[in-house]
Amino acid sequence: TIKTPVRVRFAPSPTGSLHLGGLRTALYNYLFAKKHKGKFILRIEDTDAKRLVPGALQKIMSTLHAAGIHPDEETLDSIRQTAVLEGRIPVYDKRCRKLTPSQIEKNIKENKNYTIRLKCPSDTNKFTDHVYGTITMGMAQQDDAILLKSDGSPTYHLAHPVDDHLMEISHVFRGEEWLSSTPKHLAIFKALGWNPPKYVHLPLIFGHDKKKLSKRTGTADFDSYIKKGYLPESIINFLAFLGWAPKNSKTELNSIDQLADMFVLSDINKSNPILYSEKLDWFNNQ
Ligand code: GLU
Repeated sequence: TIKTPVRVRFAPSPTGSLHLGGLRTALYNYLFAKKHKGKFILRIEDTDAKRLVPGALQKIMSTLHAAGIHPDEETLDSIRQTAVLEGRIPVYDKRCRKLTPSQIEKNIKENKNYTIRLKCPSDTNKFTDHVYGTITMGMAQQDDAILLKSDGSPTYHLAHPVDDHLMEISHVFRGEEWLSSTPKHLAIFKALGWNPPKYVHLPLIFGHDKKKLSKRTGTADFDSYIKKGYLPESIINFLAFLGWAPKNSKTELNSIDQLADMFVLSDINKSNPILYSEKLDWFNNQ
């Protein structure tokens, strides 16, 4: 059973147009919210000034609109900065854990170039994900999370728990690339005394070559399919069934409301869906 009220958010950074993976994440959020009479929030993560692309915000909003995905609430993010992706930072050796408060004070006075980390406990590396099941992460993912960068601005790791708590988000649907950061996020929720949301990590879409979609393998976005003459409903049905197989589904073109009626979290597949555009042609010819 799903705990209500359901409040979900789609949180794109306005750094370009929505690729199919992002649009599918938005769609699953939306279907889940509609199914459970909840709210779907569009949170634009606009605070990373360096990566902003002019016009991207309008483009994302118009794509969602054209796709029939209408947010119940829209918000510009107020706290978040650069999304620091896991894997790009080396594992921290925890050397500052041994410092006494006076040593820390001395270091802060002498050296302005420091970050603030959370001393992460070791018991948040086991958690349940709605798609991947029970997950146990290794020690590498139990790295002490950076909360504030050396320029004083918050990292994604801090912003996600804070924003989602304040917005009373019940379920976080996001790409699989964030799965390994979840122990850090749970540690932050725990330290702040807050209940974490339920996590629904979505397997990344693969191309025909069984590799992650990239510009090179031709990740077309919604607008380019529309320009090629595909109907919005065809694209939405195609995306919905990329990695989601409803039980008793008849293969037919469904309205977005019909898709929402059928949407059950446990029917999301944990293997990476492969993008076969023939299926899109099939939907478009119905
Ligand atoms: N802005 C992040 C991204 O685009 C959001 C991740 C999340 O949904 O928490 O990957």
